Amino acid sequence: MFALVPKSRAHFEPDGLVSRAQGAYLGLAVGDALGATVEFMTPREIQSQYGEHKDITGGGWLKLKPGQVTDDTEMSLALGDAIVNAGGVNALSICQAFDDWLRTKPVDVGNTVRRGVVRFRTHGTPRGEVDEFDAGNGAVMRMFPVILASLGADRVTVARAAEVQAHVTHNAPLADAGMMAVAHMTQRALLNPDKAFADMLATAHELGVRSKKYIFTKKREENPSGFLPDTLRAVFQSFSRTDGFEAALIEVVNRGGDADTTGAILGMIAGALYGKAAIPKRWLNALDKNIHQACERQALQLLELSPILSEKPLRVET
Ligand code: MN
Ligand code: MN
Repeated sequence: MFALVPKSRAHFEPDGLVSRAQGAYLGLAVGDALGATVEFMTPREIQSQYGEHKDITGGGWLKLKPGQVTDDTEMSLALGDAIVNAGGVNALSICQAFDDWLRTKPVDVGNTVRRGVVRFRTHGTPRGEVDEFDAGNGAVMRMFPVILASLGADRVTVARAAEVQAHVTHNAPLADAGMMAVAHMTQRALLNPDKAFADMLATAHELGVRSKKYIFTKKREENPSGFLPDTLRAVFQSFSRTDGFEAALIEVVNRGGDADTTGAILGMIAGALYGKAAIPKRWLNALDKNIHQACERQALQLLELSPILSEKPLRVET
């Protein structure tokens, strides 16, 4: 079904690019499913109820089935299908996909997302006005398909592709800055994992230097809100203090707060670095089967579209 013609053999070794792309997508989904159980809880509440939360059990304030995912994964899959079907990043196709998704009555929808989709529905406009209050984490949690589709593109194209999908609902320069750091870190891990870890941390620190809101402090970020700088501080701290997928994900979700989204973003970054084989089997087995399959299928489809494999530029239409 997939005409995956390797241009460079190394990319198709079992532990190569395909494993890391699928690992990132599955990492996002298991991070969402694991974190959702403890979303909006404080670390202390998690501690008293679960000890350490480390199994995908469903429940939480959304009363999820075990293995069920939330908007973070669902919107990623909607975005990915829109990109695959359009053969590139097309603003109106993406708007339509988010609109269709909202009509499925999803289990959870962020306020900024709902507002943006309703604006598109009402006025047909593919992007909102710039608004710094939109610097929430909602456009980053769902961005993995553009990270994959733009793999091998120049930085300007990666940024344009990321902003097209983000600005449907979140149009804030502060959020764009965080988003680009996440994109760069994840692409770095996908392409060159052996040398990526130090580079990825450097990118996170650079973001803090350029934008004070993101500055790392020694203080442990707990109970992170949906404001992107809070979210990313928790994600980067957990990622930098651990050396494997499982430890990193457990660390971040046990910080509570917007735990499904810190879990999703960290799961994506760590999955890209450590690969599919690093994700614990108990989490992959617990994950909803349809979601599992969709993540693996889309990872291949998006890779196939990417400049690194297609050797064609990515089409981005605003
Ligand atoms: Mn969610
Ligand atoms: Mn969330």
